[in-house]
Amino acid sequence: MLATHNAHKVEELRAILGDLLEGIELVGYDGPEPVEDGDTFEANALIKARAAAQHTGLPSIADDSGISVDALGGAPGIHSARYAGTRVDRDNLELLLANLGDEPNRAAHFTCAAALVVPPPVGSVGPDAPAEPAREFVELGIWQGSILHEPSGPNGFGYDPIFTPAGLTVSSAELRPEEKNAISHRALAFAAIMPTVRRELLGE
Ligand code: IMP
Repeated sequence: MLATHNAHKVEELRAILGDLLEGIELVGYDGPEPVEDGDTFEANALIKARAAAQHTGLPSIADDSGISVDALGGAPGIHSARYAGTRVDRDNLELLLANLGDEPNRAAHFTCAAALVVPPPVGSVGPDAPAEPAREFVELGIWQGSILHEPSGPNGFGYDPIFTPAGLTVSSAELRPEEKNAISHRALAFAAIMPTVRRELLGE
């Protein structure tokens, strides 16, 4: 079970995870959206995965991600999706460029936290059942790079047009989806949590 507020993420995760999903069914979660009021990417990913696990009774994975710019003290960080107050990608990206101005230190990184919440087995819930907590796991992926002076490239979403991954000369919006999916913060975070997912769900 995959918890996400974004139907497009199911496809993206299928693309990122490929063979790692063998034997596991990934489904979208369309239940109530929790309030993401954690102070960290890890806390917010766990809040989303917990909400889906509680609502469905199934093991749930969720992610929380964003971009952090060194010269802006790590902003927008966990506030990336709503940085400009509108939830519109272009507004967020333009505000970031305006706030950074001509600052020469353009260092930045994307972070993704991937969380897994496994609810207690059926029969262990209810007034007479022994209290057994859900099992919770979280892993981080970090993608280093720098901020361009102007947007470039048609692919991706969010801040991709203004982010150049370290070691490359193009923006992440100029990468093909399969290229980005092989090296991104999200790929790193899910690669890190998948051994735990397979152990918890399949006993591997
Ligand atoms: P989330 O859906 O709560 O994790 O919000 C993540 C926000 O961070 C998105 O709305 C984007 O603004 C930004 N973000 C996260 N990952 C990426 C990425 O891979 N490319 C571009 N922007 C991203």
